[in-house]
Amino acid sequence: MDLTRRDFAIGAAAIGLAASVGSGVARAAKPKALDAIVLGAGVSGLNAAWLLEQEGMKVLVLEGRQRVGGRVLTLMDQPGYPEMGFNSMGEGYGRGIDAAMRAGVELENISPRFGGSSQELYLGGKRISKEEWARSPLNPFPDALKTAMPWEVVNRLVHQHNRLPDFNTWNDPANAALDISLHSFLKAQGLNDAAIRLAHDVSPYYGTSAYDVSALMLEFNDGFIAGQIAAGPRSLAVKGGNIKLPIGMAKLLKGDLLFGKEVVAIDSQTGMAEVRCADGSVYTAPRVICSLPFSTLRHIAITPGLSGSQALAVTTLRYNPITIAFLTFTEPFWESDGFAPGMFTDDHLGVVMPQRFGSDPANPTAITGLTVQARGQLAYYWDAMGKDAALQYVVQRLEALRPAAKGKVKGAAIHSWASERFNMGDWCYFAPGQIAAFAAGMAAPAGRIHFCGEHTAVGARGLEGAFESSERVALEVMTA
Ligand SMILES: Cc1cc2nc3c(=O)[nH]c(=O)nc-3n(C[C@H](O)[C@H](O)[C@H](O)COP(=O)(O)OP(=O)(O)OC[C@H]3O[C@@H](n4cnc5c(N)ncnc54)[C@H](O)[C@@H]3O)c2cc1C
Repeated sequence: MDLTRRDFAIGAAAIGLAASVGSGVARAAKPKALDAIVLGAGVSGLNAAWLLEQEGMKVLVLEGRQRVGGRVLTLMDQPGYPEMGFNSMGEGYGRGIDAAMRAGVELENISPRFGGSSQELYLGGKRISKEEWARSPLNPFPDALKTAMPWEVVNRLVHQHNRLPDFNTWNDPANAALDISLHSFLKAQGLNDAAIRLAHDVSPYYGTSAYDVSALMLEFNDGFIAGQIAAGPRSLAVKGGNIKLPIGMAKLLKGDLLFGKEVVAIDSQTGMAEVRCADGSVYTAPRVICSLPFSTLRHIAITPGLSGSQALAVTTLRYNPITIAFLTFTEPFWESDGFAPGMFTDDHLGVVMPQRFGSDPANPTAITGLTVQARGQLAYYWDAMGKDAALQYVVQRLEALRPAAKGKVKGAAIHSWASERFNMGDWCYFAPGQIAAFAAGMAAPAGRIHFCGEHTAVGARGLEGAFESSERVALEVMTA
């Protein structure tokens, strides 16, 4: 590997670099043929490539974007380096912690940054204090949940009524009957439609409504989270920005990593797998590892075509819409009105979260900006406006709900995962019935193609799931 290729950077430098190394087929000067091609330079693809290289294999990584990291994305040009993607790992993220050590990045405990002030509740344009909430006529929850805040209800009920004695059995066909909608599950716990809407649909972590997400998936998630909580109280993130993790991982690779290589076809009809990119370049190897989310894989021509439940999975697995705005401020308006900066709203504003990433060592939890999240249907609503208009709209809505913010906040950046062509959504989720229909077999090798990525994880979630899947896929290729 040449020295310049090691010198990864995000942004313009990476684009220039991609142009210099991505100009052709694997270099003629190198005698050894490729053993595998990895598609995608998110953490799962990077880790799979690294694992294969440890076994002496020659690996090429093809990435459609001009940067590594995929769903790990830090805005390095904004105060406090806000995260648009992966936020933090629990203490039980053994693989993530190990990868950080290898990549030479420092993890720090960001738990104190979540605390310090509570989240305000705004419904119908008005603030309702925690004390008022239990008696509010707008509170639709049953008596036992009257004091719970809307954002606490789903997780609490899923945890209390989790039907899986062992969360690792979530995709066992024996549990197919549990693969019902979250809506049915919450109804069975006594929530009416208004309560379900407020507790879930207004700002869902999974799905766009309680009708389109599987309760069984949330029970798997609950089991995983419980394990993380048992492992320890800290939430870990990379000091100076999570993007440093995939950049550090990429630097460990010996083989080529080419940017701007949007894969459009994979053909494994002959004795080799052939990968074709949008720029016309073609790469061949005995094995292909595909780390792409199914939301993007479904736009790639695969020959011979996938079949059965795997084809169903690639075509229909769902991905959450989420759009995140980052706001800077000239004055801490929350000190003027005396309310917490964080807000849960049923307004088109979405959910406001203070970012506490001060660079002053004496005050590391200083608020450096606000992220505002539109999840579920609201993300599509913002996206339909276009980025600049959406950013302005977010500021307007915040000023409308919090007059003290008037003239003190500025829309600095906005990122839509649903309209990013290399993701088309945030994390994957299963609709009711989809776990039973295809979860168990959806990542099985298809000829010379092997699959990894967070969506193929079976024992872990999120970033840790992405790492888990890379270990499984590397073993598959090593033993193929
Ligand atoms: C807003 C947000 C918050 C999150 N917060 C957390 C958290 O707090 N904790 C946690 O554990 N997880 C979190 N996650 C999830 C975590 O970031 C992901 O699970 C993980 O990064 C996924 O890695 P991956 O390698 O599977 O996929 P990706 O990172 O999506 O990698 C896939 C790669 O494939 C590339 N690609 C796609 N299509 C093509 C193509 N046609 N040709 C070539 N390349 C292509 C993409 O550009 C990308 O680089 C969060 C994610 C988001 C979006």
